[in-house]
Amino acid sequence: MSRVLVIGCGGVANVAIRKCCQVSEVFTELCIASRTKAKCDALAEELKGQTNTVVTTAQVDADHVEQVIDLINAYKPDLVMNIALPYQDLTIMDACLACGVNYMDTANYEPENTDDSQWRAVYEKRCKEAGFSAYFDYSWQWAYKEKFEKAGLTALLGCGFDPGVTQAYCAHAKKHEFDTIDTIDILDCNGGDHGYAFATNFNPEINLREVSAPGSYWEDGHWVEIPPMTIKREYDFDQVGQKDMYLLHHEEIESLALNIPEVQRIRFFMTFGQSYLTHMKCLENVGMLSTTPIDFEGQQIVPIQFLKALLPDPASLGPRTKGKTNIGCIFTGKKDGKDKSYYIYNVCDHEACYQEVKSQAISYTTGVPAMCGALMMLTGKWTTPGVHTVEEFDPDPFLDALDKYGLPRQESHDPVLVD
Ligand code: NDP
Repeated sequence: MSRVLVIGCGGVANVAIRKCCQVSEVFTELCIASRTKAKCDALAEELKGQTNTVVTTAQVDADHVEQVIDLINAYKPDLVMNIALPYQDLTIMDACLACGVNYMDTANYEPENTDDSQWRAVYEKRCKEAGFSAYFDYSWQWAYKEKFEKAGLTALLGCGFDPGVTQAYCAHAKKHEFDTIDTIDILDCNGGDHGYAFATNFNPEINLREVSAPGSYWEDGHWVEIPPMTIKREYDFDQVGQKDMYLLHHEEIESLALNIPEVQRIRFFMTFGQSYLTHMKCLENVGMLSTTPIDFEGQQIVPIQFLKALLPDPASLGPRTKGKTNIGCIFTGKKDGKDKSYYIYNVCDHEACYQEVKSQAISYTTGVPAMCGALMMLTGKWTTPGVHTVEEFDPDPFLDALDKYGLPRQESHDPVLVD
């Protein structure tokens, strides 16, 4: 029995909400709140008669802490699921603290305006000290650790697939497969085809920022940064086939390096087709990925936001995407003094996702773990006060829930390694 407030009603939230509504015995009441209330109303209308969860809706601009506080005070939820954008992470955490409510999200904080001078000063210092230059990092949200601990509240960060399930896979490997882990390669393959020359599978602004940034990996206790897309490998993915993949910076590397201190190297690879890369490079070269506002015919526009308006809405890719995703982690390390390797992954079919929840597999593979993370918090399995990433909790009940609710794990004890 619980009341949950979901903030955001985009691609990922749509899946998470539909999945929560399949588990009405835990998610008894749910409020969908977002900037554009009409989207929440449309989803609530669709869910009517299909679920025992009591669904209500509300309007909120989560950039404003007071609006979130008013909404929480009015609805009195047990948990706030932030499935809006990373820009809102801190305002929603502040509101949760002010109202004494648990918090979770699917991506770590980054600012909407990267020209903000106060943020930039902290960012530039971090680039120098830490050695990676992505706009997002955990420091902003880890700074809330003590406040959440003192309030006896739990904040669960980054509970999608990657970050999220990938860290549960690491916790599982540590708990059941290895005494010590030497290397982790996280492999994110999307073998789906939506038929467009160029489209992003989730929010275009967040996606393009991530992909066009320098790559980096963790090795021997420090970050190694490389120019974007300069480390390429080929891999033959189960049920997808041979794909090119590129080394990217990714947020879970930062927390894994801290929580699995013996690890010597952590890398993250994502597959991209040539058409995607050519379009992205061209858009970048002409300035369309910029977040700095420009004057256009008397109006201020942010190029990447204008681009977002031109690109297909990720939610509209569902009915046209065919193929599968394959996301997982390959480990090397030692068990009982012997070297071993291990691969754990999930394969997800775009068309099957669409049939079940009217969404392609990228939103599905993020929305299902968000629901399962909420399930862990609401059923008392993940409740340690403070601010935590997924690998800090017991992976067993979470992976069991993923097996049950649509993202079953597969394993290999003799995987092909990435060189
Ligand atoms: P969308 O752009 O589809 O949806 C974002 C939603 O947030 C929209 O409903 C939007 O409202 C709402 N929103 C935006 N700003 C505000 C605001 N100020 N106040 C209230 N609501 C707001 O994004 P996605 O669903 O693709 O992504 C959601 C999150 O999931 C992102 O943080 C993304 O980074 C993360 N993600 C995580 C992954 C993982 O594996 N961990 C993978 C993919 C995504 P409106 O309709 O008005 O625009």
